[in-house]
Amino acid sequence: MKASDIERAAVVGAGTMGNGIAHVLALAGIDVKLVDVDDEVLDRALATIESNLGRQLRKGVVSEEAASAALSRIDPQTELAWVRDAEVVIEAASERTDLKFSLFEKLGTLVGDETLLASNTSSISITEIAARVTRPQRVIGMHFMNPVPVMELVEVIRGLETSEESVELTVELSRRLGKTPVVVADYPGFVSNRILMPMINEAIYCLMEGISDPEGIDTVMKLGMNHPMGPLALADLVGLDTCLAVCEVLHRGLGDDKYRPCPLLRKYVAAGRLGRKSGRGFYEYES
Ligand code: NAD
Repeated sequence: MKASDIERAAVVGAGTMGNGIAHVLALAGIDVKLVDVDDEVLDRALATIESNLGRQLRKGVVSEEAASAALSRIDPQTELAWVRDAEVVIEAASERTDLKFSLFEKLGTLVGDETLLASNTSSISITEIAARVTRPQRVIGMHFMNPVPVMELVEVIRGLETSEESVELTVELSRRLGKTPVVVADYPGFVSNRILMPMINEAIYCLMEGISDPEGIDTVMKLGMNHPMGPLALADLVGLDTCLAVCEVLHRGLGDDKYRPCPLLRKYVAAGRLGRKSGRGFYEYES
């Protein structure tokens, strides 16, 4: 199968990432079954996609015809069985190992043997997910960045058993979606979070040790290193619970204490200061 021939895709999970992935697939002319267990999430996802297409229209990035055609290609569903006819399935459900394992067990039996099964996981091993499926050669990581319609990178993760055909198809598909793919091997955190999370964790140590305050730490990294956002503001955007979970994956998976999560990060998560989504992390946010 060639990426240019793909006509039908399914996206499992319609949250922050799933609605963005459905958006870029539909804009590329691919019909999308968007599956979530929650009806309200599906309604919100469609509203978000419509509003983001509207923004792209106002900016002149897409035409009115392309935006309305994209919206009409997205079919929201609550039953996983609707993925059946898809040539590619991209899973973007919640970041829980047990959930991903059981979803892939089911997906493996629902779709044909040739269907590409991709996961958007940010930290779970693609090799372990693939072990739940009869043909692990077709399982791959397709790690989009948030917000999906805007961010150019797709980190393509090759599991131990992933076939060369699956890698080539995923690379081609990423290009068809207007993204730049980078193929990496399956190790904890891949490349993106292996580098990003230790930097965020170290910034939290700087705060805990009183080296500077959040504004000071973020300003050093923005003005000194030319980062568009400081590490603490970025941690708030990602979610501090997610940051902690990824640090734990790195610590456990690589067995090196240099990846130990900062005690202040644990304390914030325990207190429910999760960043933007809870209104408070290293900074405060209006709801
Ligand atoms: P989210 O919480 O916004 O959305 C997850 C969705 O999955 C929810 O709507 C939930 O109802 C749905 N879901 C749960 N169980 C399901 C099931 N059995 N079938 C179908 N849907 C189900 O999470 P998110 O931020 O969109 O993250 C999704 C995935 O993308 C995770 O693996 C995450 O690690 C990864 N990711 C997230 C980001 C980010 O910045 N948020 C970036 C890159 C990758």
